[in-house]
Amino acid sequence: MANRFDFTIDATDGAARTGRISMLRGDIRTPAFMPVGTAATVKAMKPETVRATGADIILGNTYHLMLRPGAERVARLGGLHKFMNWDRPILTDSGGYQVMSLSDLRKLTEKGVEFRSHIDGSKHMLTPERSMEIQRLLGSDIVMAFDECPRADRPRDEIAASMEMSMRWAQRSRDGFDAGGEHAERSALFGIQQGALDEELRKISAEKLTDIGFDGYAIGGLAVGEGQEAMFATLDFAPGQLPQDRPRYLMGVGKPDDLVGAVERGVDMFDCVLPSRSGRNGQAFTWHGPLNLRNARFAEDTGPLDEKCACSVCATYSRAYLHHLQKSGEILGAMLMTEHNIAFYQQLMQAMRDAIGGGTFAAFAADFRWDYLGDAKQ
Ligand SMILES: [Zn+2]
Repeated sequence: MANRFDFTIDATDGAARTGRISMLRGDIRTPAFMPVGTAATVKAMKPETVRATGADIILGNTYHLMLRPGAERVARLGGLHKFMNWDRPILTDSGGYQVMSLSDLRKLTEKGVEFRSHIDGSKHMLTPERSMEIQRLLGSDIVMAFDECPRADRPRDEIAASMEMSMRWAQRSRDGFDAGGEHAERSALFGIQQGALDEELRKISAEKLTDIGFDGYAIGGLAVGEGQEAMFATLDFAPGQLPQDRPRYLMGVGKPDDLVGAVERGVDMFDCVLPSRSGRNGQAFTWHGPLNLRNARFAEDTGPLDEKCACSVCATYSRAYLHHLQKSGEILGAMLMTEHNIAFYQQLMQAMRDAIGGGTFAAFAADFRWDYLGDAKQ
């Protein structure tokens, strides 16, 4: 019988690694990008199209799903995979980050977070135990520990106190997950390192998490407005503080150049709403930087979004047509742009996996920056 969770590193190049996570619902090639399926859908894409772009795993949001349609209802309907027709691995976040960024009237205590739904104002409580229960009801393959993510610009003692509480919550998450019976035997639990931009706090956090023991480790508390330079400075030490033989997941990142810089620093997994959200807003990612398809310069451009892109959108539709769909507010515009962007991100990940495997990652990263950032700055 296949194992619940295995991580194999096939090749390394500098700090960058490539390999695979093997789970009962399928393999996840790393470095991996997970499209975000917030409300049991990657917006504007059918699951089979998401898979066709090369995605091995998607992310679901606990906060959104607990409020609508509700975790118990999803469980009664056979779990999230069946509900949304995605039979490969799903990672769910813990709800901790979104409850702090989206809900109203939050009350944070050692026990957890009390809040009102941004949808209907109803009152809810999210604790490490409840977050584990919700992720179990959804049938998540990779469950995230419940944590608090403070703003990186808070005073150090606040960051430290928050990190210490998140580490106590990590233990409660571990205990809650392990009490999950059959679900715990076929899924995985990741801990989340906190400590903002502080090397010492991140080290303490990493040690506490490693003592508890998790299948993988996320780097939390970044991509919250600190800027790429500060994020990279933190990634110069944070991945190395986490166990070498476990996957490292940088949450909520990011732009294509963020991904390349983070892989270069030893990160294995990413998620971000950027390719899907930008697609709906008319922005396309290409090897030569982002394009705004609303721009009049594309009105009679018969070329594809990206000459090198292998996606079905680039094989079929012109920039001129996509410009027209965007200008007209047509739903198909959002669908096609999202599909291209998700496909572009997956091609970027494949290119990085190939470069690491071939021992040419530094040259790949230099070429990528020349093409992507050079043109974007014009
Ligand atoms: Zn394309």
